[in-house]
Amino acid sequence: MNYIKFLGTAGARFVMISQLRYSGGIFFSIDGIFFIVDPGPGTLVRAVQSKPKIDLTKIDGIFLSHRHIDHSCEINLMIEVMTDGGFKKKGVVFAPSDCLFEDPVILLYCRNFPEKLEIIEEKKKYEFKNLELGIPIKHRHGVETYGFKLKTKDKIISYIPDTEFFPDLIGAYSGSHILIINTVLYEKRENIQHLCLSEAEEIIRNIKPEKAILTHFGMTMLKNKIWEKKEEISKRVNTEVIIANDGMTFEF
Ligand SMILES: [Zn+2]
Repeated sequence: MNYIKFLGTAGARFVMISQLRYSGGIFFSIDGIFFIVDPGPGTLVRAVQSKPKIDLTKIDGIFLSHRHIDHSCEINLMIEVMTDGGFKKKGVVFAPSDCLFEDPVILLYCRNFPEKLEIIEEKKKYEFKNLELGIPIKHRHGVETYGFKLKTKDKIISYIPDTEFFPDLIGAYSGSHILIINTVLYEKRENIQHLCLSEAEEIIRNIKPEKAILTHFGMTMLKNKIWEKKEEISKRVNTEVIIANDGMTFEF
């Protein structure tokens, strides 16, 4: 069984700082390949404490969408975990160039630990074991930010991390069967480069995935009890929408 496990669903600084929601990133188990996406604060602890326990030493890859601390905090730790403290050269790290060359969040000392360090760029495709990882478009989020489209045997699983809304997102992620969207804001706020609920809905309505999963919630999403609105949102977009919670496992 393939699955995605949400080790954290916190978005925005205050939800992370207060740990109102955990911030442990997203774990994927697909066709026998394991990887972790955006390992924010607490990823290792959440993995070890989850039931059943997730053994991050088994991961084959790490994907970092951008350098912000709620996504990148445990990137170096994950590299150490994946490579057995640097003693076992293995796995791939996918990261934007500014995470390496501009005030780097990936430390120099552990860059040689993984088998490969892929600097991701828009419109490029990368081989990842039996999977194909495509970077559809550069997001608008202040720092270099990318999501992915992951092609498995029979599905395309996509991750839309932090970004402001722009119409090209829809074409870029079209064809996705499972669509994970970081939806920080309940209502639109100017000059904050994050998606709000109605923008996430517009993306879902146009892409028509089999299932959409909202995660990475800011304070306004929690105050408005987003988890109670699953039915009405699903109805509005004519697609099953899942509201992630900490520790949730989504099987497919
Ligand atoms: Zn961010």
